[in-house]
Amino acid sequence: MVEKCQRRKHGSERRTAVILDGFDRQWPEAKIALTHHSAFELLIATILSAQCTDERVNLVTKDLFQKYPTPETFATSPLRELEQDVRPTGFFRNKARSIQGASRMILERFNGRVPETMEELIQLPGVARKTANVVLGTAFGKAEGVVVDTHVARVSRRLALSKATTPEKIEQDLMKLLPEDRRISFSLQAILHGRNVCRARKPLCHICPVERVCDSKDKMPAPPPASPAKADAPKSRRRSDNERKQS
Ligand code: SF4
Repeated sequence: MVEKCQRRKHGSERRTAVILDGFDRQWPEAKIALTHHSAFELLIATILSAQCTDERVNLVTKDLFQKYPTPETFATSPLRELEQDVRPTGFFRNKARSIQGASRMILERFNGRVPETMEELIQLPGVARKTANVVLGTAFGKAEGVVVDTHVARVSRRLALSKATTPEKIEQDLMKLLPEDRRISFSLQAILHGRNVCRARKPLCHICPVERVCDSKDKMPAPPPASPAKADAPKSRRRSDNERKQS
């Protein structure tokens, strides 16, 4: 029994290593897409990124961080004005309240600095484990947990790294499987993989670097190569159009 458990453990360690190797080959320079110049800016950008694309958040924060360069400016600005400034990111009332609340707490409880522990970060309004993990991993290089967003969740389930359905449980499964020094890079790579290859609909399995270890029911076959007849079709249509013009 013990032997069987050990064999299974080694098997899943080997499989995880193959997945990490594949991700390293495909996404060697994975970086967070949210533009920021400090832990505080990253915190604000991550709060704004809920239900919004990184591109849109970056467009908004370009002006936002000039208008509100410090926690003080966010904490003391009129809430209605802040709401309008973050409006394009959606859910703007909640997000403005969270940003202002988090800025005030940072000033009052943490001497104006973004705290560096999970326990403290999740006390900030609008900050749950996912946001805290983003800040800890990217701003402070601390792998207290694993960022689990919708892409990481989908990729982890398809690759059988977790069978869980909630981000909290998926994170716990990943923490058991991933070496500590790979927790930050794995999330960044899995986000890129989920966005570009292992997409929710029609994943591009024929270009997937970890296809050989994936048994997901969502796997898609490679698209058929374009047939020569089809490739010629537009040409012959153009020819006959020309012919018609000449006639
Ligand atoms: S083989 Fe397909 S479903 Fe499996 S991880 Fe790769 S892209 Fe996703």
